[in-house]
Amino acid sequence: MPNPPLTVYYSPTYAVDGKMETVSKSKLVAALIEAGDAGEVWLEAPKLATRQELELIHEAEYVRHTLEDKGAFLEVGAWSQPLLDSILASTGGMRDAVKEALKNGRSGSLSSGLHHARRNSGNGFCQFNGLALAALEALKKVKTVGILDLDAHAGGGTFDILGNHPQVYLADVTVNSFDSWEPSDRERHFYVEVEQPKRYLEHVEEALLTLERVDFLIYNAGMDTYEKAGGMKGITKEMILKREKRVVEWARARKIPHIFALAGGYKWDGLTLQQVAELHLETVKAFAA
Ligand SMILES: [Zn+2]
Repeated sequence: MPNPPLTVYYSPTYAVDGKMETVSKSKLVAALIEAGDAGEVWLEAPKLATRQELELIHEAEYVRHTLEDKGAFLEVGAWSQPLLDSILASTGGMRDAVKEALKNGRSGSLSSGLHHARRNSGNGFCQFNGLALAALEALKKVKTVGILDLDAHAGGGTFDILGNHPQVYLADVTVNSFDSWEPSDRERHFYVEVEQPKRYLEHVEEALLTLERVDFLIYNAGMDTYEKAGGMKGITKEMILKREKRVVEWARARKIPHIFALAGGYKWDGLTLQQVAELHLETVKAFAA
């Protein structure tokens, strides 16, 4: 049987022009999807994340400080109502992607700026941790969840929030020590900082091996590992394309629901925002195929 069309969560609220790539690129990815460049994909607007949901993953005082005092935004010198709206929408998109994947097997959200946010602080331009919210949403229906984080940077925020959760498996392949964390449970935690780019895909395989027991996969699909998108010299576009196909093939072979978030991908090494968006589209294509 052919796969049903892929539903991906996005609304124009996600996109804030002129801000960090984290919140500006989703609009371009959405335009490519609407043009049919990723195959049969539906875009759907999510419900905003609620304060109650945010308090499941963050300290109530941090949520209050962020929503009412604009705290976590002022710390990075960037407050605007559209930015807050964007973050509430893209965090909600992760929850709705989980619900869709539990019904139809797969989904995703054009969200990024998630994995550095800790229980009681924002970090690295991430204010709320949508990956953590997605994991808790999935655990309403399944026994174990894996978060595969293939962003260039480590998901120290996700570890801070879920590292002690006995039903959550974390696998993190980084090319950079920013926001690094140390596994505290050998069975549930995998962490590697890549030293030899030619071994990158082997490390991805090692990460997948540690997720064999999970019933649901959340994939943080960073493009900032790619040598021209802010990543590591020697990690080529071909490797990244193989990676996207491999993650999807892995989840399908195990018949487990799987979702993606966009994660990092930057113009630092001379790419245009459009080229960054085209890279992220590869994840959408792999999920849609
Ligand atoms: Zn990153």
